[in-house]
Amino acid sequence: MNNMVSGGKKTARPRASEVSPEISVVIPVFNEQENVDLLFRRLLKTMDAIKKVYEVIVIDDGSSDNTPRMLRDWFRKRSDVLRIITFNGNYGQYVAILAGFERVRGNIIVTMDADLQNLPEEIPNLLNKIKEGYDLVGGYRAMRHDNWFRTKASKIVNILRAKMTGIETKDHGCMLRAYKRIIVDEVVKTRETSTFITALAQKFAGNPIDIPVTHAERKAGGSKYNFYKLVRITFDLMTGFSLGPLHVFTMLGMIISALSGIYFFVELFKRFVSNHHGYGLRFAFVFLLLSVIILGIGLLGEYLGRAYFAVCEHPRFVIREILEKRSTKKQ
Ligand code: UDP
Ligand code: MG
Repeated sequence: MNNMVSGGKKTARPRASEVSPEISVVIPVFNEQENVDLLFRRLLKTMDAIKKVYEVIVIDDGSSDNTPRMLRDWFRKRSDVLRIITFNGNYGQYVAILAGFERVRGNIIVTMDADLQNLPEEIPNLLNKIKEGYDLVGGYRAMRHDNWFRTKASKIVNILRAKMTGIETKDHGCMLRAYKRIIVDEVVKTRETSTFITALAQKFAGNPIDIPVTHAERKAGGSKYNFYKLVRITFDLMTGFSLGPLHVFTMLGMIISALSGIYFFVELFKRFVSNHHGYGLRFAFVFLLLSVIILGIGLLGEYLGRAYFAVCEHPRFVIREILEKRSTKKQ
């Protein structure tokens, strides 16, 4: 049992489940058996040293390795601060964070990854910024340790996102962030289906700041994002926050119609004036047009899909079990 010294007297540290915690740390976890132990050792050490009442909400996003067992073990050891939410499947990192957001009890919320690419030891820096009066502290990875493609692609997406959505956050992919409770509550209220939490939070923040954070190499396990997931998430971000893609599409459609009009008249002219026949260019033109139509249908589908889910109010995730101090609820 950890003890806290206050006013010269040794007093038992209030448990998160007894007193409303001041800080909630939210961590999504998916197949991170190689990292769980070190993560908790470093995180709990840092948080204990802050000497504030805190809780750590871990969301197991349908792990199929040893992670669930390890989380249970840790819960047994530190049920004073840990709360474990277990999904019945893999719903994605952002949905997992949302499930955590729905249950936070603290006034300040910190999010971070479980793979130790974010350093738990840097949490106090974020908390200090909140104390200074900022309502959202976004970490940005000053020196990124991902492969060349990820780093470059992420830079481009960050620039595009800023231009298209007008949301200015330096590095939306960095999850080492701190939020005042009011922002987290607003994010939860949106009932988004495919959510980009960093961008949403930025939208609701009145006084945000970006600070540089360390980005360590992933020491164990692999990234849970493959190329497909990365493209999906980028598309979500673009369509979720602006009608920009639709506008681009409309503009493209107009330009192509104009060009095809000109092309049509050139062909007419060639036919009647120089009596020339040729098909290659026309085929290329048809293919181009077809591709644009397909793109357009896909894009419309994106927006329709969002509207559909919003109307249906499908649950965004299903929880199998919650481990927390007062009671262990089965759902
Ligand atoms: N994660 C998750 N569900 C997923 C994918 C990832 O909960 O479907 C968690 C993962 O365990 C980690 C965080 O989200 O804590 C970031 O994932 P990862 O490190 O694979 O992403 P990257 O650093 O490559 O962007
Ligand atoms: Mg990572």
